[in-house]
Formats: sequence, structure tokens, C-alpha cells
Amino acid sequence: MIRKYSIVDLPDDEPYRWWKLYDDTYVIHYGEALDTFLLLGDKKALQIDTAYGRGDFANIVDMLKGDRDLIVVNTHEHFDHTGGNMFFPEVHMHPLAFENADKAFGPLDEKWLKNMPYPNYTKIPVEDSFVFDLGGRKVEVLHTPAHCKSSISLIDHGRRLLFPGDELDSGQANLNVFDSVKAFLKNCRRLYERRDEYDFIMPNHNGCPVSKSYLVDFITAAEHIVDGHPDLVDTEDVQNYCHGFFKGHLRAQIGNSCINYLPEGLVPERGF
Ligand SMILES: [Zn+2]
Repeated sequence: MIRKYSIVDLPDDEPYRWWKLYDDTYVIHYGEALDTFLLLGDKKALQIDTAYGRGDFANIVDMLKGDRDLIVVNTHEHFDHTGGNMFFPEVHMHPLAFENADKAFGPLDEKWLKNMPYPNYTKIPVEDSFVFDLGGRKVEVLHTPAHCKSSISLIDHGRRLLFPGDELDSGQANLNVFDSVKAFLKNCRRLYERRDEYDFIMPNHNGCPVSKSYLVDFITAAEHIVDGHPDLVDTEDVQNYCHGFFKGHLRAQIGNSCINYLPEGLVPERGF
């Protein structure tokens, strides 16, 4: 690989793997359960999320995009999706992500941070119904806040894929206060209404692509929570990428669609 970017390796860096879902669509996988995506159009490439920006992330993206101009977008503000933003001069995100996009989950290595080429990168706002035109491939933005207030989902009209960020995945939807479940239900119904426009869902964690039928189960599970008769299961023995993240959460599950949420009245230890 020709390395355009200089890299500061850290002792707890995890390995990358990447593969083609289609000839013009890459999954770039970091560590145990974190995926980002690179969509290639005729003229431009769209990188969806920047993981933690560890190791050779930017060099891998640079190699795979070829000679296309690169557009970078974050699905939401959490640092496992924004940590590599400072490799790039500008990054698109929902304006509600501006404030927290650079807030790491813990202290950052100073040498690593100093090495980043664009510490003051430009944040470009994208709101609901914005369309990225990659040349022969259009990608539409939907504002879908529940897991996080700045969450967007992306419908790739070229390859008929739905990228929901962390709003839902194959193992769980991590929600926050009780009202987030209501927001989640509204979002899922909206995505379900658009189901004829995509064939698979591409979450960032726990594996992808996944079937559209997850949405049906997520909607039913959320309806039951909101209606006061949740399908509660033990929080153990289920696939999970951040077990115990929400102290005191309940877990409702239908099929493989699980919703982690806080019961009404409880306030999370950390905000989203
Ligand atoms: Zn998240």
C-alpha cells in the first residue's frame, strides 16, 4: 500500500479487514465489531464514518477510492464513527453532531492527536433529504434520531442499501431515555415505508448486510414497549457489542431484533 498519510501506531490498535460487497462498495472492518463503508461512484467516493481513525484507516480509504474525489460523512457524533475525521479537510454530518463529534470516549494519545493533518477540519451540515451525487449513484440522507440525536440514515439508491448508523443493528438497538423508544418507533416506521427502495440494511456493528425483516420485528418490539407490555428478556446470552453500556437498561426482544432501553423515569449515566 502506498501510504499517503503518516501513521502513529498505538499499543491497543486493532486490525483492519476490508472486502467488496459489490465491485463499487467496500466494507472496511475495524477490530471486533465496527464497520465503515466506502461507496464508489463514477466521479466521487463516499466514506460513511471514520471509525476511531486508528492505524492505517485513511491510507486504506485512499487506496480503495482510486482517483475519485472523496466525500466523508458521519452517521452520528459518537467517536467510534468520527475518530478519524481529522484525517480529512471536511466532513459532512448533521448539524446536531457539530458539538460532540470530536469528543473521545477517553483520553487520546497526544502523539497520535498531533499527527492528525486536519485538527480543525470543516464540518459541513447535512439535513434530512440532502442527496450526495457520486456520479451515477445517489445517496439520500434521512434524519433518524433515537440512538443519538444527530443520527442520519442513508439510502444508497445505486446499490439499494440502507445505512442506518447505530440506529439499529443485527443484535440490538441501543436507546437512551424512554422517549427514545418512541422516536425509534417513528424512525423505523419511516424506514419501513421506504422498504421498496433498498434490499439490505447495513448497520455499523454486529455484522452486515442484514435482512429488511429486522425492521418488522424492531417495530413490533418498540410498539410493545410504548404500549406498556414489553417483550423482556435477560440481558445475558445475546450478541452484544457494548454489554452493560446502559446501566439499568431493560432488553426487549422479538426475533433477533433487541431494544436496550431505560425504563420511564430513569436518567442515563451519560448523555447522548
Ligand atoms: Zn453510536
